[in-house]
Amino acid sequence: MLIDTEPLCRLVSEIFVQSGCSTAESERIARHLASANLTGHDSHGVIRVPRYVNWLNAGNLRAGQSISMVTETEVFAVVDGNRGFGQTIGEQAVQLGIDKAAASGISIIALRRSGHLGRIGDWAEMAVESGLICIHFVNVAGSLLVAPFGGVSRRMSTNPVTIGVPLVGKPPLILDFATARVAEGKVLVAATGGAPLPEGSLVSGDGEPTSDPRALYGDVDPTRTTGKRPGSGAIRTMGEHKGSGLALMCEMLAGALTGGGCAGPDKPYIMNGMLSIYISPSHLDTGHTFAEEARQYVDFFTASEPAAGHDKVQVPGEPERRLRAERTAAGIPLPETVWHAIRQTAREAGLPDKKINDLTAPCAS
Ligand code: NAD
Repeated sequence: MLIDTEPLCRLVSEIFVQSGCSTAESERIARHLASANLTGHDSHGVIRVPRYVNWLNAGNLRAGQSISMVTETEVFAVVDGNRGFGQTIGEQAVQLGIDKAAASGISIIALRRSGHLGRIGDWAEMAVESGLICIHFVNVAGSLLVAPFGGVSRRMSTNPVTIGVPLVGKPPLILDFATARVAEGKVLVAATGGAPLPEGSLVSGDGEPTSDPRALYGDVDPTRTTGKRPGSGAIRTMGEHKGSGLALMCEMLAGALTGGGCAGPDKPYIMNGMLSIYISPSHLDTGHTFAEEARQYVDFFTASEPAAGHDKVQVPGEPERRLRAERTAAGIPLPETVWHAIRQTAREAGLPDKKINDLTAPCAS
């Protein structure tokens, strides 16, 4: 089915209000989840609603939190997310980094114990809108999903790395990817009737490459669990040893250095750590060459002759921009299983069917 952004956000927001979040926080959660769907990252979109509500009800995720300062100078800060919603905590931590870099030219923000930060590209977009370059390393304490290169056992999560670069006269570059072959949510999407996984994305418990989501989830309904993934396999890292190395560095920077902790079997719930570096080109680029050099190089890069099977060379962030425009106009595609799970979560949160239908009219089914 297709659903427009506004009715979808209305329903998602109301679910979180009913579950104990303020209206402002609920709207923020809905807006960020919908943004992931709009940009084509359905894995980090509204499919997460039942799981977030489960985490909230279990006390693993907390409504109405703010970052608290652990230590701070003019150019860096270590902040604790207090297990608050990543959509709230992320916004505050990124704003702090933007403010410090705007004043000093550079800043580093070490964020620990944030709830799920969703699509990290949202945070890069926020920084580049302020004219900053940004680099984010993210880990997920409490989540073991991915086997290191050469291994079968789960030792880390899908640990994204994200880089944003503002360009003058062109849309920004937003490179935003999981260091796993696929983000966990894409396995979730495949397990719930959405796009199938590329061949060999996972490794089965006996060490064979597979695309069967049951290698991760076993036979449980993955939209309804609080994080149990009883399959005997793992997700594989992207780029073989290189992706595995990047994922390890996410654990070092976003887990060990922030104080949020690395992935491991002893972590009771999922928390994101994020080490972010913000750079102000207007401070560092004293020769005023950055904007023109970057623009010219991107033109040179994209002018490459397309290879077989490609229309053109794209830059990071381009597919998301195109999809955002398309889905804003045409609606967000949702598998029936996901729509059903969201409506069921709404009912369990206390919303009667009539209210659900009113909120989502004319798209309710
Ligand atoms: P992906 O494999 O779709 O790669 C996305 C990146 O590749 C984007 O920068 C995109 O612009 C670029 N890209 C895609 N096609 C391209 C093309 N043809 N030419 C040039 N560039 C192209 O993304 P993914 O690895 O599946 O990650 C999905 C999302 O999951 C990300 O937004 C990530 O932040 C998020 N994530 C979050 C967490 C978390 O704990 N919060 C964990 C893992 C992943």
